[in-house]
Amino acid sequence: MLRSALAAVLFASLSPGCPGRAPARDVANVPWSHPDVSTDAPNDPRIRVFVTDPVLGLGLPCKLTVRGINGTPSPAWHAAGSTALDQLGEWLDRDDWALGIGRWVLMARGRAAFSLPPGQYQLVVTRGVEYAPLDFGAITVLADRGHVLAGDLRRVLDTAGEIAGEFHVHSAPSFDSDVPLDERVLSLAVEGIEVFASTDHDALGDFQPAIEALGLQNHIHWMPGDEITTDGFGHFGAFPLPPGLDPAVSLPHLEPSVGEVIAHARAVAPSAVIQLNHPLWRDHPIGYWSLAGFDPASGMSVTMLYSQFDAVEVWNSHTLDESNAGYVDPDGVIDSWMAMLQLGRGATAMGNTDTHRLAQTPPGWPRTYLRVPDDDPARVTDAMVTTAILGGDAMLTSGPFLRATVGGARPGALVRANAGSVTVHVELQAVEHTPVDRVELVANRTVVAVREATAALVNGARAMQWDVPVVLTRDAWIVVRTRAAETVGDVAGVHARPLPSLALVNPVYVDVDGDGRWTAPGINGGP
Ligand SMILES: [Zn+2]
Repeated sequence: MLRSALAAVLFASLSPGCPGRAPARDVANVPWSHPDVSTDAPNDPRIRVFVTDPVLGLGLPCKLTVRGINGTPSPAWHAAGSTALDQLGEWLDRDDWALGIGRWVLMARGRAAFSLPPGQYQLVVTRGVEYAPLDFGAITVLADRGHVLAGDLRRVLDTAGEIAGEFHVHSAPSFDSDVPLDERVLSLAVEGIEVFASTDHDALGDFQPAIEALGLQNHIHWMPGDEITTDGFGHFGAFPLPPGLDPAVSLPHLEPSVGEVIAHARAVAPSAVIQLNHPLWRDHPIGYWSLAGFDPASGMSVTMLYSQFDAVEVWNSHTLDESNAGYVDPDGVIDSWMAMLQLGRGATAMGNTDTHRLAQTPPGWPRTYLRVPDDDPARVTDAMVTTAILGGDAMLTSGPFLRATVGGARPGALVRANAGSVTVHVELQAVEHTPVDRVELVANRTVVAVREATAALVNGARAMQWDVPVVLTRDAWIVVRTRAAETVGDVAGVHARPLPSLALVNPVYVDVDGDGRWTAPGINGGP
C-alpha cells in the first residue's frame, strides 16, 4: 500500500514539471496534497518523510527541524556511545542517508524513515537561504501510529549565475573535530552549499569518496584546502591545494614572519587563494589583526601589518562562541576591513562558519556566493571559484540574498563616475526565515543611502529592487549590505549567541576624478 502511495506521490510531483525551465520564483504556490496519501499511517509507527524538488521531480538534500511542543521534549539525536555529543550523528535511515543530530534530520535525498517517542511535534524542512520552508505543521505521534509527510521544497530566490560556497570547514582530520567526512559532506549539502573547501588544521582528508557514497556528485564540488595554523601569527586558509600535496609536510609554517609563511604557501600552492581567517579572534592568539594590534580608527598597528591576502573572513560564525571579553561582532570585523579598504589594502570579504561540529554552528550560516560562468555544481571548476574570489565578485550572507552593481559594474570592478555621480542598482531577495529590515549603501566608510525592506512575502519570497543615485567628491569604494534586528532561528542550527542575519556585497571601485585609476581615500577620507 505504502509503496503504491509513494509511486503516486512521485508521479504527482513529476507530471506538472516544466522540463528545461530554470528553477525560479515563479513556481506556483500550491501546497502539496494528494488524495491517495494519508498523513496518518496507522500500521507503521514511524515518521516517513518525502521531500521533492518540484522542478526536477527528484528528492533533494535538505534538513528537517523537529521541535517538541506542548511539553514534549525535542529530540536529541547523537551517535550511541559518543562522547562528542554534537560531532557524531545517529544514522536514522542508512538506505536514504538520513542522519539525526540534535533536533535535526539531515537528508541526502529528501527521504527519511525514523521513530519519535509519543508526543506532539512541529516539523519544518529547509534548505539554506534559497528555498521556502516546507512546513508540515504539528503532528501527534502515538505508540502505534506514525505519519507519512510528503511535499515539495521550492526554490523561490533567483540566484542564477552565482554559486553558494563555504571556505572554512573542519572535520575529523582536524585535531579539534571528530565529524566524519560523510557526515560533513551531508551537513553542507543539506544547506544548499554547492562548493566547499575542506580546511582542516595542517591536514587534508579525501572527501571525494564520501561525496560519491552519498550520491551527491551533482550537488556539491569539493576543493582540497588547508588551514595554516601558526603559533602566534594567526590562521590562514589556502585552497585549492595541488593534487597529492600533504599540508603537514609541505606547509609546515616554521617561517619567522607572516609574510614568509604566506610566500612559502604561494610557492608550493600557486593556484591557491590565501584567506585571512577570523582576523579579530581575541580569546586565543589566532587572529592576525588582533595580534598585530590593528586599530581601525587610526589605521595604525603595533607591529608592521602584512596585508597581501586574497580574501579576509569578515563574518565567521564560530566567533559567536567567544567569551564576552573576546567577542567582536561581525559589524566590528567589517569595520576593520573597511578601514583596510580606506588604506587601499583591501581583500575580498568572505563569510564562512569555521564549523567544527554538526548541530552547533552548522556549515552554510554564513556562506559566500560567487559569480561564476557555470553555476552548476557538477560543472563548476576550481579556477572559476578562485577567479571570482580574486576578482572580488562575491557576496557573503547569513540571511538575505543581495546583489548590487554600480554604474553597471559588478563587485570588484572599477567604474568611472559621470560628473561625480553614479547609480547603484540593488536587488534584494529573502525567504521567511532570513530577516532583513533595510539595505545600506556605504561609500568610503560613510552610509550614503538607506532603503527600508518593506515588501511582503509573496510566494515564499520577499523581493525588492532599487536604483539609488550617489554623489561622490573623490575616488570611492561602494559596499551594499543589509541590517536586521531579528536573528535567524533554529533552522540554522544552534549558536552560542543568536545568529545575526546579514548580507554584504563586495566593493565596486569608482574613479571619480577621471584619471583612469583608483586612488584610496585614506583612513579618514569621506565620500
Ligand atoms: Zn582558525
